[in-house]
Amino acid sequence: MVSVVVPTPAHSSLGGTLSYVSESPLASGQLVRVPLGRREVLGVVWDAAEAPADIQPKPIAGVLDGLPPLAPGWRQLVGFAAGYYQRSLGEIALAALPPQLRALDATQLARRLKRAPADGASAPCAQRPALTVEQQAALATLEDSAGTHLLFGVTGSGKTEVYLQAVERLFAREPQAQALVMVPEINLTPQLAARFTERFGEAAVVAMNSGMTNPQRLKSWMAAHMGSARIVLGTRMAVFASMPQLRLIVVDEEHDPSYKQQEGARYSARDLAVWRGRNEGAAVVLGSATPSLESWQAADRGRYRRLDMPSRVGQGALPQVRLVDMNLQPKRAVLSPPLLEAIQQRLSRGEQSLVFLNRRGYAPVLACSACDWKSECPHCSAYRVFHKNDRSLRCHHCGWSERVPRACPECGNVDIATVGRGTERIEEHLAELLAGVTRPGGAPVRIARMDADSTRAKGSLERQLADMHAGEVDVLVGTQMVTKGHDFRRITLVAALNADAALFSSDFRAPERLFALLMQAAGRAGRDAAQAGHSEMWVQTWHPQHPLFGALRRHDYPAFAAQQLKEREQAGMPPCGFQALLRAEARTQEVAQAFLSAAAEGAQQLPDAGQVTIYSAVPAGIQRVANVERAQLLVESGSRLALQRFLASWQPILQAARSKGLIRWAVDVDPLVI
Ligand code: ADP
Ligand code: ZN
Ligand code: ZN
Repeated sequence: MVSVVVPTPAHSSLGGTLSYVSESPLASGQLVRVPLGRREVLGVVWDAAEAPADIQPKPIAGVLDGLPPLAPGWRQLVGFAAGYYQRSLGEIALAALPPQLRALDATQLARRLKRAPADGASAPCAQRPALTVEQQAALATLEDSAGTHLLFGVTGSGKTEVYLQAVERLFAREPQAQALVMVPEINLTPQLAARFTERFGEAAVVAMNSGMTNPQRLKSWMAAHMGSARIVLGTRMAVFASMPQLRLIVVDEEHDPSYKQQEGARYSARDLAVWRGRNEGAAVVLGSATPSLESWQAADRGRYRRLDMPSRVGQGALPQVRLVDMNLQPKRAVLSPPLLEAIQQRLSRGEQSLVFLNRRGYAPVLACSACDWKSECPHCSAYRVFHKNDRSLRCHHCGWSERVPRACPECGNVDIATVGRGTERIEEHLAELLAGVTRPGGAPVRIARMDADSTRAKGSLERQLADMHAGEVDVLVGTQMVTKGHDFRRITLVAALNADAALFSSDFRAPERLFALLMQAAGRAGRDAAQAGHSEMWVQTWHPQHPLFGALRRHDYPAFAAQQLKEREQAGMPPCGFQALLRAEARTQEVAQAFLSAAAEGAQQLPDAGQVTIYSAVPAGIQRVANVERAQLLVESGSRLALQRFLASWQPILQAARSKGLIRWAVDVDPLVI
């Protein structure tokens, strides 16, 4: 008799494993097909030697013969993630496996197995640049110390080259070794994949991300599991890749919020990567120009080793930061005159500019001047955004979309107007302002926009990036999408239009995110040595005296981090305290909050209740989405261990407190957004 992990619901009381009998002996980690209710599902043998239960278990339906069992390290990772993030083993384990495994029959499997090792022959080649002194030092340290490293390197310091050569050196030492390289966003994978395949050959590298088809996922998974893929390159889901010879894990842009899964099992792939590395004896490299305060503090305290790369490669200098005091600009100016002039200068020299703001669409709200009507979404507590391109009012939370009305739906007034501006409007505005301006040679100025709307169609993002790289665009307007990672060579001006909102946000992480965003954006400028001398980062702000901008001006992340950590410490906020959020969704706010309140009351009797602070139930930031009311309850503790023990003992109470009308509840451990 064996226990098998099967896909059970998130909060199943079964804990995710069921018992089955098998005629032939099975090993832990082996993949099997088992009956579950009326279905046949994929399962993982968890404990091959479990004592018999009193109920009569069903027999296993089939074994995926020839497939090596999942390694103990992988099972431990899944076990840890399930425990830490309060989910079932089955949910985590099965989400980490390619769905098509279940459907494979014996012949298909044999064919796949034969192909996976055959693909492996790789032809590494390519030229390596001569390393900078800083790169050499970072690599030397990496080579002779295990553990977790924080590679703190400014944008353009050549972090990617460090990753590449760290992997090369590893492979030279250990011919079978595997490396996992993670990036925050799917958009960034093709660029990085190109650099890795150039260095290590096509066959050595496989991708793992949510944009892949099921057959692609199966192929990548198989190659990594069989060891023929030496490098797995992927987004957060890749942290669960089966890699029996894993020796190195790289987490690029480790501060990026995308590493946190925001639905279902809300795990942090960065944190799991650190745990996995430690557990399996693989070195971990967390890379960033603006590390998360969590990682920064860990390095401060000696838990991670910091590797500093403060200089840009070659002659590249960091752009000069210019703050435009909007109090001194003409009323209602969207682009201040000095910024506009600076953009024109770039145009006259044939250089590129990047203008970004965190709001897509034309205007965030449409409002009636005669009555109170605003473009609220009927299903959400949010406004619908006006998109001029297709003349729609679209809700960015539930997707509800309508044609823009000709007159106010409430009072019939035809004078309805937009409030605020998004990327579409800035693009239009710039086109008007620059209408008479020409490039050297007299050609008209080319303005482009890049955001979630302009890149929705397949292939359009790649096309837009290619245009940008080829110099076909003079001014690029976009959301933060354009600020991440791209190695644009001809940009000498980056401008942030509406940075202020984050300065006074109730979200204690908002300044950290803003600083990272602005530094990242600044990192797009001056990457080419010839132009670095006059590259600039412009920030329009009503609060130029804010200390955040002072640190930004000096490119002084350590000073910013020190100041933030002091505030966090005083307030007992992460990373100087630990949090979990209980989230509930229901048809009415009362039901959602009643569940949370009952859960809080039930918690009082738990042994660890004294070590945690339980706050009152409150409506979520966006209270209603798609007609579902959302509420949340915060739990804090000065001890991670006490919080973990508390959460585990809370589970039965939460399951029992489930009431009529409640749709969903979930615990979010180490939440990023509160
Ligand atoms: P980061 O990831 O730190 O922002 P990249 O790794 O993208 O920086 O490097 C920036 C640019 O410098 C890339 O075009 C890269 O090819 C180049 N580069 C990196 N290291 C070197 C080096 N030692 N010599 C010359 N060019 C380098
Ligand atoms: Zn009206
Ligand atoms: Zn909506």
